[in-house]
Amino acid sequence: MSDFYEILGIDKNATKEEIKSAFRKKARQYHPDVNKAPDAEEKFKELGRAYETLMDDNKRATYDRYGEDGLRDAGFSTSGPFDGGFGGLNEIFESIFGAGFGFSTNYSQDPNAPQDGEDLRLNLQITLEEAVFGVKKEVKITHMEVCDECNGTGSKKGSKPETCPACSGTGRVQQVIDTPLGSFRQIATCPKCGGKGQINSNPCTKCHGEGRIEVERTLTINIPQGVDSGSRIGLSHEGNCGKNGGRTGDLIVVLYVKEHKEFKRNGFDLYSTVDITFPQAAIGDVIEVNTIDGKRELTIPSGVQQDDVLHIKGAGVPFLGQQNKRGNHNFIVKIKTPKSLNTEEQQLYKKLFEINRNKKPSSNFIDKMKNVLHN
Ligand SMILES: [Zn+2]
Ligand SMILES: [Zn+2]
Repeated sequence: MSDFYEILGIDKNATKEEIKSAFRKKARQYHPDVNKAPDAEEKFKELGRAYETLMDDNKRATYDRYGEDGLRDAGFSTSGPFDGGFGGLNEIFESIFGAGFGFSTNYSQDPNAPQDGEDLRLNLQITLEEAVFGVKKEVKITHMEVCDECNGTGSKKGSKPETCPACSGTGRVQQVIDTPLGSFRQIATCPKCGGKGQINSNPCTKCHGEGRIEVERTLTINIPQGVDSGSRIGLSHEGNCGKNGGRTGDLIVVLYVKEHKEFKRNGFDLYSTVDITFPQAAIGDVIEVNTIDGKRELTIPSGVQQDDVLHIKGAGVPFLGQQNKRGNHNFIVKIKTPKSLNTEEQQLYKKLFEINRNKKPSSNFIDKMKNVLHN
């Protein structure tokens, strides 16, 4: 563990003025813009930590007694102003010399480097039938393409961008910054050309110098059978074109399946309810039902109960990529009580009612009732 007093080259009784002055001297020596030694940056960060600690009376007292670990245990932040990069430089300069002495390092990405085009996302709603059987869909999209007027150069035909006089085409300028620590040379993006090194004084009228234009296209999207909400289809190179020769992005189509008025889907199975009467439930029947394939016959077995599930195998959703495999259609049985009866039905239901009332309960049932009564 390094000693903060040693780092600053001061003794234990140094005053704040001495700390400041030592810091100025050392900071000038190790500033990464000046000192290109591989450990200069680390030394500079250490200086920051030492300076911050010793300038704060509470931190200094804790440090003097317990060292750097003690600071941490006492809940002080032990990171210095430069540890997260040099963004803290302004703050520390301002804390020493007052506001207005800060400066910022000003590097930005090279504007002439190839820049990949953006991927685009398109949300597409389809019906359940389309998801089950697959569909070809035409969609209109808007994406960026290389300007066909200037071929992406951004300049008017017959004219070329000129070399920027401010930076002689390098895109970078040196700035000398005078601070109380001394003068620093700093490389910054050329403010005149924005780092391009060239000035486009005759921009293409179609793309206004951008090199890219917005184009509307109609695309055919092939949706395979078996897709579901959230399924994605990628169309290579249908996103935005890149800049400076960067690659073109993709178009990602995200599918949403609309709710069906009759069928629910769960995985590869479809579900619907089927209403039947008491006699159908008691005796059994063959009825016509709707499936995604159209009308089909469903056998109702005798004695079927409310909420029993009957299946038609293979009438569900095809497995993605496996054309012959499909899920099932499941029918949930709902037995409907008649709300009104004609005379004949009334007579028959009454008769049924009497028969049911006079039916002897099973011996099992009588035994149970006995048990209940006797206990
Ligand atoms: Zn320039
Ligand atoms: Zn153009």
